[in-house]
Amino acid sequence: EIQKEHLNNAAQYVNDVFEKVKLRNQGESEFHQAVKEVFDSLIPILAQDPKYIQQNILERLVEPERVISFRVPWVDDKGIVQVNRGFRVQYNSAIGPYKGGLRFHPSVNASIIKFLGFEQIFKNSLTGQPIGGGKGGADFDPKGKSDQEIMRFCQSFMTELAKYIDPDTDVPAGDIGVGAREIGYLFGQYKRIRGGYPAGVLTGKGLGYGGSLARTEATGYGTVYFVQEMLKDKGDSFEGKKVIISGSGNVSIYAIEKAQELGATVVACSDSNGYIYDERGINLATVKQIKEIDRKRISEYLTYHPEAEYHEGCSNIWLIPCDIALPCATQNEIDETSAKLLVANGVKAIGEGANMPSTLEAMDIFLANGVLFGPAKAANAGGVAVSALEMSQNSMRLSWTFEEVDAKLHEIMKNIYRSSVAAAEQYGKSGNLVVGSNIAGFKKVADAMIAHGV
Ligand code: GLU
Repeated sequence: EIQKEHLNNAAQYVNDVFEKVKLRNQGESEFHQAVKEVFDSLIPILAQDPKYIQQNILERLVEPERVISFRVPWVDDKGIVQVNRGFRVQYNSAIGPYKGGLRFHPSVNASIIKFLGFEQIFKNSLTGQPIGGGKGGADFDPKGKSDQEIMRFCQSFMTELAKYIDPDTDVPAGDIGVGAREIGYLFGQYKRIRGGYPAGVLTGKGLGYGGSLARTEATGYGTVYFVQEMLKDKGDSFEGKKVIISGSGNVSIYAIEKAQELGATVVACSDSNGYIYDERGINLATVKQIKEIDRKRISEYLTYHPEAEYHEGCSNIWLIPCDIALPCATQNEIDETSAKLLVANGVKAIGEGANMPSTLEAMDIFLANGVLFGPAKAANAGGVAVSALEMSQNSMRLSWTFEEVDAKLHEIMKNIYRSSVAAAEQYGKSGNLVVGSNIAGFKKVADAMIAHGV
């Protein structure tokens, strides 16, 4: 039992540090949101073990080790010089080299990259692998760009980034707008500049040049494996369930694949313009054709399946009644209103495949109504977990089979579930996996920082 006085002290400490965070990072609302969620979760462990407050661990954790911001000039197909802003946040290296994806999207700014980098610290720690936290990206919009433009942008981006990364220091990968094609161009440029064959400097590589089998599937599969564990604890499963999976990118596609394999009917998916509803179940081969090969909008689904429905406005996807919802698109895609709708329509479980897809208010609604809630840091950790397995394979100069990697991924997701449940239990928040995963991820990083001294 944690004493009330200690809880009050911890809450006061959290509040004081959070005020400094807001002052030092003004206007960065996504970053504030991510920090608030973690800080509030940590109150029980800060109250129980005085060393964390004595060591001022939160103020140390929340300040990135290094933030790099750079100019990315490139020439478009018309010969016009364009400029974007590139970022890499090397957030925390207490337990391993910085690890985390690159996001290319017009919404990218310091707040977005810092929130993602901050989350990555805890997520990576939760996987049990030796990887620190980092994130990067650019406010470049890949939509409508030619392959040549994408290549020139990636080359310019890496010309600067190459100064700061190597396989033992910082290992980027993909995120929104960065897939195997972009990783290929980025890797080519890194190799040209630095020489040798530094395979382990990026993950998510093509299978022919150091990539890992099952990396493409890992985030989506992992999210479904995590939700499967939550359901199993209640004597339930995906079998016969009606599922909504937002997004139609890499995470969504493989979440759909695994959910279908486990006997669920996935009735809807989306992109930033709108969603499709197909009551007989989404045809995944069609979605793969549209998104992975043709790189078109999800509304194209109707040309293959005219009996399905297309609706404008992606957030309306949460109007559809379902048993399980897997938000796999982007941050804050489920707000308070959508959360209330999902609950009113009887949702049983949520698994966050995207990073921070639920607002703080939405999360509170799910937890208050007894919905099984798999928070992003735990539920989407499968992607970075297999990235770490890719690093291992690169170091050993060998490659594991699909079955070996998938089995390791499955085991890692089960472990994340078990350690999150155990931490929630230990700190008096039984069943709250937000608190459990944040505490479990935090403990290992904080203890390593203390061991390393100031
Ligand atoms: N961008 C993914 C994430 O948020 C993967 C990062 C990685 O593989 O390094 O976890």
